[in-house]
Amino acid sequence: MNQRLRYYYLQQMGIEVWEKRPRTTAHHLALKQLEATVAGCTRCPLHQTRTQTVFARGNTQASLMIIGEAPGFYEDKQGEPFVGKAGQLLNHMLQSVALKDVYIANVIKCRPPDNRDPKQEEILACSDYLKEQIALVKPKLILAVGRFAGQFLLNKTLALAHMRGVMHHYQQIPVVVSYHPAYLLRNTRDKKKAFVDLTWVKRLLDEN
Ligand code: SF4
Repeated sequence: MNQRLRYYYLQQMGIEVWEKRPRTTAHHLALKQLEATVAGCTRCPLHQTRTQTVFARGNTQASLMIIGEAPGFYEDKQGEPFVGKAGQLLNHMLQSVALKDVYIANVIKCRPPDNRDPKQEEILACSDYLKEQIALVKPKLILAVGRFAGQFLLNKTLALAHMRGVMHHYQQIPVVVSYHPAYLLRNTRDKKKAFVDLTWVKRLLDEN
């Protein structure tokens, strides 16, 4: 049975099909172009205090997209998301469940001063970039880490505890919400729950 027919039958049976996507130069160029646009962005006041914008890191064809809140001190200095202690913890946790194929970005591309929470108007100003990133990367699954990323993707102001442990969707892409690694550095007792979430993510990706 050819691939197209197989997908047709699976879809008729109500089974969600995650297709492998071909790598294209156009896809890569579109992301590069978006990154350049973000680098020159002055849509909100955060551009005045940033060292540089923080676009993303990882494989642009990854199955898993991890979305955090905003760059912190080290991210602002180095121009990459999750590179400080929180980033090290995230890398360690991903390695521990053998999750290697990831693309990582934030809702907000510039660091809020003193790592304060992003304001609603800043999220609103910046959100088109993330939406476009997701549309270009087309991940099979999104892991939202932290309350802000979860609330943005779900478009609901829920507490993190109410978003965890439930499968959500953003534009038909499955979304799992878990703790932000910066929170886990301060609240180590919740690391076990975060590992449960990551194991679930790994299982979902392996099953598909
Ligand atoms: Fe532009 Fe986003 Fe930076 Fe604001 S946070 S200046 S909208 S890139």
